[in-house]
Amino acid sequence: MLELFRFPGGVKPASHKQASSGSPIVRAPLPKQLVVPFRQSATGSAAIQVAAGDIVLKGQLIGRAEGPFGAAVHAPTSGTVIAIESRALPHPSGLAAPCAIIEPDGAERWCERTPLDAFNASLEELRTRIRDAGIVGLGGAAFPSHVKTKTSIDTLIINGAECEPWITCDDRLMRERAHEVVAGAIILARLMGAKRMLFGVEDNKPEAAAALRDSVGEQGCCEVRVVSVPTLYPAGGEKQLIRVLTGIEIPYGKLGPDFGVQCFNVGTAYAVARAVLQGEPLISRIITLAGNYAQPGNFEVLIGTPIETLLPLGQPKADTDRTVMGGPMMGFALSDHSVPVVKATNCLLAMSPALFPPPPPEMPCIRCGACTRACPVVLQPHQLYWYAKSKNFGKTQEYHLFDCIECGCCAFVCPSRIPLVDYYRFAKSEIRAREKEKAAADMARERHEFRQFREEREKAEKAAKLAAKAAETKAKLAAEDAAKIAAAQARAHPEEESTKEGA
Ligand code: SF4
Ligand code: SF4
Repeated sequence: MLELFRFPGGVKPASHKQASSGSPIVRAPLPKQLVVPFRQSATGSAAIQVAAGDIVLKGQLIGRAEGPFGAAVHAPTSGTVIAIESRALPHPSGLAAPCAIIEPDGAERWCERTPLDAFNASLEELRTRIRDAGIVGLGGAAFPSHVKTKTSIDTLIINGAECEPWITCDDRLMRERAHEVVAGAIILARLMGAKRMLFGVEDNKPEAAAALRDSVGEQGCCEVRVVSVPTLYPAGGEKQLIRVLTGIEIPYGKLGPDFGVQCFNVGTAYAVARAVLQGEPLISRIITLAGNYAQPGNFEVLIGTPIETLLPLGQPKADTDRTVMGGPMMGFALSDHSVPVVKATNCLLAMSPALFPPPPPEMPCIRCGACTRACPVVLQPHQLYWYAKSKNFGKTQEYHLFDCIECGCCAFVCPSRIPLVDYYRFAKSEIRAREKEKAAADMARERHEFRQFREEREKAEKAAKLAAKAAETKAKLAAEDAAKIAAAQARAHPEEESTKEGA
């Protein structure tokens, strides 16, 4: 038995998973139009490779990964690119980005798929394949996965905790496609030279853990264990799961690889297996429709599917008044349902006043300390709240604002019903905006200083040239004058000249 550890804080909200966990994954129908954003990773946009009017095949590269942190983007089906234009993305800030608008031809014609031999391909070939397949963390972070495979580690953790209430897409994936999840995990373990591999699954998903155990069998690559971890939110947080499975406490500002541990979501491991063993890029994902639906369930959805075309599959009830992307703890309300499904979309939670009553009015903080006791990152949420509210952003950073994982445990227990996470998100976005403004101002100042330097240098060079020219002219004139004087003297005293000649 593997010894398990407890992370600080945490809460136990009602799970509500049974509403959708019993339904097998169903493939969502092809929509009339796909809106595929070129920005689908946490680290930036892909370089656009298509133009309006182009015919594309399913899986064809349409956005090339750029730079060391790039992630590629592919056509989710065959059809015609009818436009490249800026569209709103599902993001709390209402961010917009360039998207390829694709009209499917319905034929689902694949581009050429080239599988790799996972055991004989070089590590660089595997890493390049993961990058070019556009694989990013499917647990929500959307960080390019190939970048995370560049470190050597001791322990690889495959995160199947899925701790947010209502969401069951990982549960269904593990139950139905465990073999490919394990295959992807083995590829990741090989890439990082892991000596052991731990699958962490919350103990409210026994069928998923059993399916993984069946698929793991006898693996010769390294020590492999499927571990049921206690159901406690947020056990699926990276640092929290590392703590539970290994006992390692990752301090502020550090990451798992600093301690020889790396973590990937089960969906990411599955995508790695598809990319390497089938040659298929990441063009779809599993999404849970849960909450106020008559038919909740899990659907395999093409990236770029407009959310408004997906919601009817769950049959939202008449009193549905909001849709949240993600779960009730970490998700955010969508203001526009025409936005597309992106790689980070794991759940579309339908809400109604009856199912999710509006919170009572916010009351003043009474400094009860409940938020501090619930925080799994050992922050001081009420202090962060005070400083964010008073826009003292320097202080929020001193109190490790950017270590906050926005899990919502503090707000969940707050007796004053303060929407604490909203304050932290506000402070983070303000700090990022100011840093961006400062970087832009620094760049503008540097450009201005360089221009001034260049103008002064050109002025000095011009002055030097003029001075040289003047000196040259002066010397020439002086020489001409001397010659004229000598000639005049010769004319005035010709006998001296003839004496000189006679001598
Ligand atoms: S739980 Fe709420 S009321 Fe209590 S200290 Fe934290 S912010 Fe203040
Ligand atoms: S949202 Fe942030 S401050 Fe609140 S409990 Fe989670 S990590 Fe701590």
